[in-house]
Amino acid sequence: MNVLDLARPELRWLEPYASARMQAGPAAVMLNANESPWPATDGAGQGLNRYPEGQPRALRKCLAGLYGVDAQRILIGRGSDEFIDLLVRAFCRPERDAILICPPTFGMYAVCAGVQGAGVVEVPLNQDFELDADAVLAACTPAVKLVFLCSPNNPTGALVPLASIERLAAALAERALLVVDEAYIEFAGSDSAATLLPGFPNLAVLRTLSKAWALAGARVGSLLADPVVIELLRRIMPPYPLPTPSVDAALATLTAQGERRMRQRAARIIRERERLAGCLRHVPEVRAVLPSCANFLNVRFEDAARTRQCLAAQGIVVRDVGDCRGLANCLRISVGTAAQNTRLLDVLTKPCSPRKKDWEKAAATPRTAESSP
Ligand SMILES: *Cc1c(COP(=O)(O)O)cnc(C)c1O
Repeated sequence: MNVLDLARPELRWLEPYASARMQAGPAAVMLNANESPWPATDGAGQGLNRYPEGQPRALRKCLAGLYGVDAQRILIGRGSDEFIDLLVRAFCRPERDAILICPPTFGMYAVCAGVQGAGVVEVPLNQDFELDADAVLAACTPAVKLVFLCSPNNPTGALVPLASIERLAAALAERALLVVDEAYIEFAGSDSAATLLPGFPNLAVLRTLSKAWALAGARVGSLLADPVVIELLRRIMPPYPLPTPSVDAALATLTAQGERRMRQRAARIIRERERLAGCLRHVPEVRAVLPSCANFLNVRFEDAARTRQCLAAQGIVVRDVGDCRGLANCLRISVGTAAQNTRLLDVLTKPCSPRKKDWEKAAATPRTAESSP
């Protein structure tokens, strides 16, 4: 069986859009794409009058080298978010198929399934926020086409051991595509699941330049997978997904020097993460700091709403993840610079009287007369 047998059958006969740039590369006189023959401006817009390459060769080569895969196993898109959407659209028929997720986890998997009309099977993480691989296998009915694992997991921070990923990939062979989202793997100090790709055609790995590489605004993500899966998604992807300025920014960043800087910064974030975690454990309001392999900490507070307000009053925003399963009173705090983290700790270790919002003040003041009009 081929991994394509898991995909929506109707896509196999879909004739993909053939773009002008695909049919003919650059030539001296380019009259095939209805572009403007003039650049937009004399300055920064140089070259932007032309459509970009669908999969820029230079960037593909560069990312394939970085991630340690053959160029035919990589597809580049607008952040890994785009691939979550494309995978769900390629593998799940509305009203019939489903994805499997292990909450609490990244919200986009369920959102993309919802948009596609696909079902969402939930297999919660255990009490210690670890993956329950047996429960995943037990819940993986024939309707489940995609199993999403996030490692390190957002918003808990825990890494899924490579051995568990390998075991699941083997057990799910010919049953489902296992998608491992490694948005934070650079902060984990562990091997990527991409090392397992040659043995498992039903494994896919998501990587991004948005976190450790500091290019969230450029929107460059990669799907690493079997060439058959790459080919399938390429067919349903818009023809020009990557804006030229984003490709240029990625190429300018992905140099040997850029990689050294990224690694130094990741190491700095890891040191700060451990310092912050150690200090937070001594803050009276803090109930628990979850162990994290990412660039954030998930912290359970006595009263997260109150803490969040205190921080906001001092100009510090953190993410309230209290609505996620098992994460009542938890805040997700990104690790910042040493100065930013120290400022956070300063605010948390001082008594706080959150400023009341205007409407709360108004509600607390008895109304005397109806104001007009
Ligand atoms: C941030 C994040 C992403 C988004 O990555 P983009 O490449 O910016 O789209 C994907 N997965 C997880 C788990 C994330 O936290």
